[in-house]
Parts: sequence; structure tokens; C-alpha cells
Amino acid sequence: MRPPNSSKNSTRIISNNPGALLQFRPHHFLCSLGFQGKGYSDDFTANMVQIVDKVLRTPGGDDQKIEVVRNTDDICAPCPKRRGLRCSNQDGIEKLDKAHLRALKLDYGQVITWGEAQERIRKHVAPEGLQVICAGCQWLQYGMCEAAVRELHG
Ligand code: SF4
Repeated sequence: MRPPNSSKNSTRIISNNPGALLQFRPHHFLCSLGFQGKGYSDDFTANMVQIVDKVLRTPGGDDQKIEVVRNTDDICAPCPKRRGLRCSNQDGIEKLDKAHLRALKLDYGQVITWGEAQERIRKHVAPEGLQVICAGCQWLQYGMCEAAVRELHG
């Protein structure tokens, strides 16, 4: 078991340790839902494919447990913008995290499954709501995250 917020390097544990507890900062639940193979670098994208496509979007992926953390997480690990436990755009990221924490009614330290996360998104986030809670994110303009929320709503 890793100590909280221990994503200090770019080494991924997921492929070697299926079922391990994942750590997500609040806004990464929705980022994972909308992920379409784009990222900040090749390493970042490969890591996200490993987490999202090879774990969450598999049969049984809904049972994957995820801890809500305050600092850099399993998705941030190889990000070129990561500075230790912080981000080169720390203010912007904190704003995103606060908005998503509130929207999904999450608490730091809480552990939920990916299935529960999707249910929270379906219950509390309207597709057009991303224009508010994701304001400032460079990926918002492409519409893939909004489309994913819309699909979740059926
Ligand atoms: S718009 Fe940005 S913050 Fe919002 S879900 Fe998509 S990638 Fe995440």
C-alpha cells in the first residue's frame, strides 16, 4: 500500500498491480470519463491509456476503487507540468479541483468505485455544466468531455 499522494515519479504501478487502489484528484474523474487518447505528452497519454482504457473501461472496471486526493495523483505522475506534488499551473488546477469536488459532492480522503463516480457524474453534472466547472481547461473546447457526459445521461 502506498502512502497518500506518493506519486513522486513517472513509474506506473497499474500494469504490474491490477486492482491496486488508484488516486485521483477531483477533476480527474470527469477527465477520465471524457478521455479520447489525447494528453500533454506521449508518456502522459500512455499512462492515461493504461489507467482509463486498460483498467476503468474494462469488464469489472466499475469496481475499481479510487481515493480522492488533494495533490498530484496517478494521472499526474508522468505529466510534464508536474512539479513534485504540485502543478506548474497550481492555481488553475486548484480552481478546477474545488469546482469538481463540489459538483460531485466528494471529500478528500474518500474512496469510491469508478461505477460510483460515474453515477455521481450522471446525478450531479449536466453536459453543459462543464462550461462552468471546467472553465480554463484547454480540452474543454474540443467537446469530447461534454459528449461523454451526454452519453452517460443516455
Ligand atoms: S474539460 Fe478538462 S477538466 Fe473538464 S473533464 Fe475535460 S479534460 Fe477534465
